[in-house]
Amino acid sequence: MDNIKYSIIIPVFNEEQVIEHTYERLKIVLDSTAETYELLFINDGSRDSTVDILKHLGKTDNHIKIIDFSRNFGHQIAITAGMDYAKGDAIIIIDADLQDPPELILEMIEKWKNGYDVVYAKRTARKGETFFKKQTAALFYRTLRAMTDIEIPIDTGDFRLIDRKVCEQMQNVHERNRFVRGLVSWVGFKQTAVEYERDERYAGETKYPLKRMLKLSIDGITSFSYKPLKIANYLGAALSTIGFIYMLVVLYQKLFTTTTITGWSSIIVIQLFFSGIILMMLGVMGEYVGRIYDEAKNRPLYIVQDVYSVENQTKTIVT
Ligand code: UDP
Ligand code: MG
Repeated sequence: MDNIKYSIIIPVFNEEQVIEHTYERLKIVLDSTAETYELLFINDGSRDSTVDILKHLGKTDNHIKIIDFSRNFGHQIAITAGMDYAKGDAIIIIDADLQDPPELILEMIEKWKNGYDVVYAKRTARKGETFFKKQTAALFYRTLRAMTDIEIPIDTGDFRLIDRKVCEQMQNVHERNRFVRGLVSWVGFKQTAVEYERDERYAGETKYPLKRMLKLSIDGITSFSYKPLKIANYLGAALSTIGFIYMLVVLYQKLFTTTTITGWSSIIVIQLFFSGIILMMLGVMGEYVGRIYDEAKNRPLYIVQDVYSVENQTKTIVT
């Protein structure tokens, strides 16, 4: 099986409740293409029986390959490892929980055959997700769009097909706090969309609690924009202008009128307001400095403890 046409990358983290079902649906779709393919599962440090189920399935189906991480490195890193190991001419990234319908892969393949290098799946609706998640996601994609100069498609997750050449370019991008969908846009090439309605999670629960969503959003913005840093500049300029005008007013009152200026409350309010802004801007700087620190340490992006059914496996630790 050297000439693989399609590689499917499936990151899994504690997905024992869905994984078998996902495998079956993927298999039906991929078999229907009558081409060679591999199902590349990246086990992102699952603590349940996910890997055992996969290994068991692998005994009867040699399309199944497993990259087993030494611990949980996160969804974006898992996808990245998938791209490092994928051998196919077209590589498809899909979630394990069946929120991304495997059947859409066929539509993506059609577009790819028509000459597109990246086919991303754009959500027209999201079922079974909370009002809060939908609203924050919508807000995030729009903020990101306003903040960055490169075209990152709105309402689009990592569910997408990429051509081999895009995948190879992605392997040259080594940054640590990754926002993969943004990087794929950054790499460029001919891109297009297919639309779909995002289903509910088939079983189990989300592995993206609010804290991780926030981290991903900040990664997205800081990886592609300096604008948050510039905000400090603009805010500073605006506030000093206001301060200067107010100074003139105060001087005038002092010199030419008899109005007494009482001040305790206003000073406290101003003091709190400005300390807040200064600390916040320090925090923004901290986000960037922390990321520089991560890059400077130059640790491997992930550590693989085991691979299963992956041929000529030369990389155990990939940076
Ligand atoms: N995932 C992962 N590592 C993590 C978190 C999630 O590999 O640390 C996988 C998870 O198994 C799933 C995909 O990433 O296949 C998307 O996660 P999830 O469905 O929980 O996110 P949501 O759809 O709720 O945003
Ligand atoms: Mg999901």
